[in-house]
Amino acid sequence: LIQITVPLNFLGTVYREIRQSMIDMREMYALADTAPEVVDRPGVPPLRVGEGRVRFRDVEFGYGPERPILRGVDFDVAGGGTLAVVGPSGAGKSTIARLLFRFYDVTGGAIEIDGQDLRGVQQTSIRAAIGVVPQDTVLFNDTIGYNIAYGAEKASRDDVERAARAARIHDFIMTLPEGYDTMVGERGLKLSGGEKQRVAIARTILKDPPILILDEATSALDTGTEREIQAELRRLGQGRTVLMIAHRLSTVVDADEIVVLEAGRVVERGRHERLLALGGRYAEMWARQEAEAETA
Ligand code: ADP
Ligand code: MG
Repeated sequence: LIQITVPLNFLGTVYREIRQSMIDMREMYALADTAPEVVDRPGVPPLRVGEGRVRFRDVEFGYGPERPILRGVDFDVAGGGTLAVVGPSGAGKSTIARLLFRFYDVTGGAIEIDGQDLRGVQQTSIRAAIGVVPQDTVLFNDTIGYNIAYGAEKASRDDVERAARAARIHDFIMTLPEGYDTMVGERGLKLSGGEKQRVAIARTILKDPPILILDEATSALDTGTEREIQAELRRLGQGRTVLMIAHRLSTVVDADEIVVLEAGRVVERGRHERLLALGGRYAEMWARQEAEAETA
């Protein structure tokens, strides 16, 4: 019996690990379309998170040797702080998020969390410390309760309900025919973009990570829903370090620092007011979005 239980336990662990990395890949689906390429050096320790300081030191990166994507990207986010990355599509914003999640290793410079180079710690421990709210949340063909608890095996029904209340989706769930046991996803009840984002937020509340990546988390929503979800995301970000990638600049005005990225380089940086006063790229983007908002 013992000889059977031991390997089964072992298999259980392996299974959980595989499942965990599948969650990570799902979570990052909107961020990365390739499989992770990073392998831990043997015997490296897990990441030890303290205040959750995130630092990019002159980061250089390319998906292949022929084409550099990020060039000398340098920033420092204090624990609990919010850094926003803005810039045109293709500038390299999502690449920054993928590197922080360690989907790839940098080709020059370094990324550190609380002073630890990401290349010197276990990949799974980095991913455990980071929550991701992607642009388009993918739901599993399972119950809505399962979808919220996914990745948090130890969560009780009470925990799930508390997270759902905090994400303001509990009342909606109570209107469903079978409440938390209602099937959702492709083969179940289809949720709206805003409802799916709330599921993602509830899931992240349960995971309770010290570091949060929001990659254009609300760009798929209409303006009214976006405003509501933004308020939820602000609450979610409280007490966490947030890396926010934003398309609509209205979402970054409160960030501690805004980095304007163009063709893989930081061309401007500072708080909203300072960047407006600078009258450069950011001010230009802001004016354009204001004009678009007025015509809309
Ligand atoms: P953004 O999020 O600012 O729109 P990305 O970081 O997604 O930009 O992409 C930056 C550049 O890297 C783009 O030119 C894109 O085509 C390229 N790129 C993104 N992902 C890959 C990949 N997996 N392989 C090769 N090139 C990629
Ligand atoms: Mg992107």
